[in-house]
Amino acid sequence: MTLKAKIALWNTGLISVIVFILLLFMNSISDSVVDTSSKNQLKYVLEENADEVEWENGKLELDDIDFYENHVTTLVYSDKGFLLGGTSELQEKFEEYPLKHGEYTVVSLSNVNYILYDLLVESRKHEDIFLRGIVSVTEMSETVNLLFLLTFVTLPFFILLAGLGSYVIAQKSLKPISKIIQTAQDISHGDDLSQRISLGKGKDEIHQLGETFDVMFSRLEQAFLTEKQFTSDVSHELRTPVSVILAECDCNLDGDTDIVEKIKALESIQRQGKKMQMLITALLNFSRIDSGVMKLHQEPVDFSELVLIVCEEQKCLLLEGQDLQVLAEENITHDLDYGMMIRVLSNLIDNGFHYGKENSWVKVTLQQNERSVILSVEDNGIGIGADDIQKIFHRFYQVDSSRNKDKGNNMGLGLSMVEQIVRLHQGSITVDSILGEGTCFTITLPKKIS
Ligand code: ADP
Repeated sequence: MTLKAKIALWNTGLISVIVFILLLFMNSISDSVVDTSSKNQLKYVLEENADEVEWENGKLELDDIDFYENHVTTLVYSDKGFLLGGTSELQEKFEEYPLKHGEYTVVSLSNVNYILYDLLVESRKHEDIFLRGIVSVTEMSETVNLLFLLTFVTLPFFILLAGLGSYVIAQKSLKPISKIIQTAQDISHGDDLSQRISLGKGKDEIHQLGETFDVMFSRLEQAFLTEKQFTSDVSHELRTPVSVILAECDCNLDGDTDIVEKIKALESIQRQGKKMQMLITALLNFSRIDSGVMKLHQEPVDFSELVLIVCEEQKCLLLEGQDLQVLAEENITHDLDYGMMIRVLSNLIDNGFHYGKENSWVKVTLQQNERSVILSVEDNGIGIGADDIQKIFHRFYQVDSSRNKDKGNNMGLGLSMVEQIVRLHQGSITVDSILGEGTCFTITLPKKIS
């Protein structure tokens, strides 16, 4: 059974049960309600009529009396019991019941129940008179019963209407869910990850669910595309060295080549082998970090000293015309993974020179404020264009791969690794660059709030 049918059935059932209980209750109290309301009505009509009794020139005036009002019949008697107004037929019917001021008398005649109420109207100048009110309880009960019958006849129609209404409202409210199910099924059965639920505007829970699913689908699509791109990049990166190795082997296994050629070929094979080894190591590190296997060993490290040591080592590798400047505030300690941070810094300095121009310089700065430690690596190199700046942290992304043709070490993985290590330190990395003028990478590591 569908959800909307369940909701409609539940509502209809519940309303039916409530109405049934209500009717039972009303039925059980109806007799006493009829009795009380009859008595009230009787008293009210008689009191009103009593106010209308007048004597004009010593003569009793009964013109303003309502002898029949709201099911109540009024009879007027002298204090001796003679009928002065009202139908004699009724007077005869109830004549055996004496007039008693302010009292109700319940009478049953030929299966009809009546209530009598008598009221003495006193007059100083004239003789007192009695008013007798008579109401048929059976008549009142019949009116109530008619009302019950009417309710019973019309009720199924209203219950049906309530059920139908619930069904339509449930159907309308649940329509977006069908769309969510349809989209999720389409995505899981087909290859098209670009489908979205797009429920449009709306703030209810179902719209929020739709939006959450759309965000999830976007992230899944992005992750899927990245994965696909990554696999294709890895295959591409591995294909080149494997092709070179196979080609060198083919050439040199012929026997025509001399020993010098063979040594050259072996060197080439060794270079390609090293490149593949580096790639595999990098991929292994990425996957260890991604899966959480590789964990940081953070401990308080003298960051200032670390920067000085790495820069000293890097200075030994400088070529002519290159300059490495260090501006590190003293005694900055921070919780770091020593080895990882060396990789970060070396990578950024390496890049600074690798993508430098003639007479290139790289400036490393380390400073701190109350909230964070800030490391920046700035160069006066070739810079990065605005279009590329967002992509340089993607794995295998290289702005100009031809620049690295002669260098086996550059595979577009360095910055991606740097970003991951910074992220593992709960830090962030930003880059500012002007094409042709230089680049500045800034790493911000938050301090622990104690
Ligand atoms: P690669 O191995 O290619 O250096 P990276 O991930 O370290 O890979 O860098 C990605 C790309 O970002 C590089 O190919 C280069 O185009 C660009 N890049 C990185 N650092 C700099 C820099 N300091 N100046 C200019 N371009 C840079």
